[in-house]
Amino acid sequence: MAATRTFSIIKPDATRRNLTGAVTKMLEDAGLRVVASKRIHMTREQAEGFYAVHKERPFFNDLVSFMISGPVVVQVLEGENAVQRNRDIMGATNPANAEPGTIRKELAESIEANSVHGSDSEENAAIEIAFFFKPEEIVG
Ligand code: GDP
Ligand code: MG
Repeated sequence: MAATRTFSIIKPDATRRNLTGAVTKMLEDAGLRVVASKRIHMTREQAEGFYAVHKERPFFNDLVSFMISGPVVVQVLEGENAVQRNRDIMGATNPANAEPGTIRKELAESIEANSVHGSDSEENAAIEIAFFFKPEEIVG
């Protein structure tokens, strides 16, 4: 099967605890390859734009504030069935419900400060990759 791509964010709770490497190792061990990566501090406008799909949800303002509370690492991941593979290694949104061995179970702090974002479909992966990366910044 051909390699596909997904979009990942190492969230501020993880960068604050110096877990960038730990998260990336779990992604790599799951068969994903980092083909683009940069550390950024999102503006409020960027975070609101990125999470626009959630703007009617009650936690939207908290989520945006959390995502701009510190630096994040945005990454493009490549591998077979990359979107689902990444969702599997991330674990459930709420770390309390996540399977042992997943990033969120092993590393996350709470349902909000849950260490990683991952695209939920190939269509959204393409949109999210284009939100943060120029084509020439992705080196497969
Ligand atoms: P994901 O795809 O597993 O990341 O989950 P969602 O797309 O449903 O939610 C996006 C992000 O919003 C999650 O990763 C959490 O950081 C945050 N979030 C989700 N549900 C809640 C909630 O009930 N309360 C709070 N404070 N944050 C939430
Ligand atoms: Mg989601």
